[in-house]
Amino acid sequence: MQPSLSPDFSFLQKAEAAGPFNAAECFQCRKCTNGCPASFEMDLFPDQVIRLAILGQKEEVLRSRTIWICASCETCSTRCPNGVRIAELMDYFKEMSIRTGVSPAQPHVASLHQTFLGNVRLTGRVFEGGLLPAWWLKSGQLGSKIRSGGIRNEMKMALKLFRKGRLATTPKTIKGKAEVGAILRSS
Ligand code: SF4
Ligand code: SF4
Repeated sequence: MQPSLSPDFSFLQKAEAAGPFNAAECFQCRKCTNGCPASFEMDLFPDQVIRLAILGQKEEVLRSRTIWICASCETCSTRCPNGVRIAELMDYFKEMSIRTGVSPAQPHVASLHQTFLGNVRLTGRVFEGGLLPAWWLKSGQLGSKIRSGGIRNEMKMALKLFRKGRLATTPKTIKGKAEVGAILRSS
């Protein structure tokens, strides 16, 4: 971790106004990090993200791989003895990085989030049959999947799921589509 020389102490204040996430309660026990199933892929551990946020290290937090690797499993929030809402704070940091024009350190993950929300906007619920192809197209993975032949395995898997009735091939609009759309617009 290389702390920046100009900390932005309003960073956490703004986050807490959107939360609250109780980050200031953190006493660095690392229970969050020790339970995190995705920490092996992270460049900063969850407790370090919290510490850096408290220290106003906005750039380090928003440019980290960790905020995109986080799978929102909530293990950290459940384990935290001080009620720090770590998983929700990670989500907030994802949003902040997009809103402030920071390039996501994990662009494929960011494009999956965007594809997912776009997919839900269409019908009010996720249409699984269209989600992965749309993501591959958006993230530029479709070409490499076709060239490497990986698309064949994906198609075999899709066929298996379809035969078991686990993969819808046409989107179905839900009754509350307008309400879901309003929630997405307000967030
Ligand atoms: S578990 Fe909670 S108090 Fe402990 S380091 Fe993580 S955020 Fe801080
Ligand atoms: S919510 Fe994210 S940071 Fe927390 S334990 Fe799960 S993957 Fe790790």
